[in-house]
Amino acid sequence: MKMIKTTIVGVMIGMFGLVSHASAQDKGLIGISMPTKSSARWIADGDNMVKVFKEKGYKTDLQYAEDDIPNQLAQIENMVTKGVKVLVIAAIDGTTLTNALQKAADKGVKIIAYDRLIRNSKNVDYYATFDNFQVGVLQASYIEKALDLKGGKGPFNIELFGGSADDNNAFFFYNGAMSVLQPYIDKGKLVVRSKQAGMDKVSTLRWDGAVAQARMDNLLSAYYGNAHVDAVLSPYDGISIGILSSLKGVGYGTPKQPMPVVTGQDAEIPSVKSILRGEQRQTVFKDTRELAKVTAGMVDAELSGKTPAINDTKTYNNGVKVVPSYLLKPVSVDASNWKPVLIGSGYYTESQIK
Ligand code: BGC
Repeated sequence: MKMIKTTIVGVMIGMFGLVSHASAQDKGLIGISMPTKSSARWIADGDNMVKVFKEKGYKTDLQYAEDDIPNQLAQIENMVTKGVKVLVIAAIDGTTLTNALQKAADKGVKIIAYDRLIRNSKNVDYYATFDNFQVGVLQASYIEKALDLKGGKGPFNIELFGGSADDNNAFFFYNGAMSVLQPYIDKGKLVVRSKQAGMDKVSTLRWDGAVAQARMDNLLSAYYGNAHVDAVLSPYDGISIGILSSLKGVGYGTPKQPMPVVTGQDAEIPSVKSILRGEQRQTVFKDTRELAKVTAGMVDAELSGKTPAINDTKTYNNGVKVVPSYLLKPVSVDASNWKPVLIGSGYYTESQIK
């Protein structure tokens, strides 16, 4: 009798095991369209999402478009043909997807803008991102503190760099930064010798470090003959690395000609190493594991008829509607806190950095 009971229990466990296994396989296909593999953050975003979706029982189709807009469009159309239930998209150019998204929505596909807002489309259901304005505030506040601007020091020379003008985030980063820096520029405590300010003058197409390096070369030769640049607002680590090579090229990085305070974003490994060498001074860490979790949670809620978690319903107007959003908190990282933030959280191992 005891044996029979055990066997029945065993069979039941087996059955339930099978059932949950089967349903775990059956929740459907999610299309994940990422912009490029040229920056480590997007690789981490993709990998983290595949992992979290799998844990929740979804299959994924992850594609990278190598910063080529027609390529991203073709990949998205292909995902719709394959029958995805949801598209998770980090757009290369946030304005180019309107028609593709309409076709997807006509087939009942839900659309989540991932990290970057998709503009000019009513078919963006949700937006999962970080507090992008705050990213800029963190970068500029770092400069403010490093130069002791609050203590009245100055005037200092600063140059400004922005991200790609086809990425909505770039404007939020820049505006966040300028909300801190502009009052010092107005008071003459910060001087932009090139007078190049405003996203129309300082943006960097496709966030390309080589483009930033060429612009920095020009700024240094045209405006800094005898002058020293004390700070450079950089919105992204790849751009910071370009700026730093330009500075090194004309002799910065010595006791007589110290590096300016250069900011960044994404806590990419080359930049964390640069911070430890005392070159780049700051970066902004955005935990892509958390963004993946939030996104998968949104998808899961949406597909099971629940309301996804949202914490912002007013900031992100995409030109057609305000997209309900979930904003995560970015964290400023420098030589003083990189270990607890990046290693302590398990994002990197120490051997990746040292
Ligand atoms: C992201 C940043 C990233 C940049 C360049 C932005 O949309 O929010 O984290 O540094 O793109 O890839």
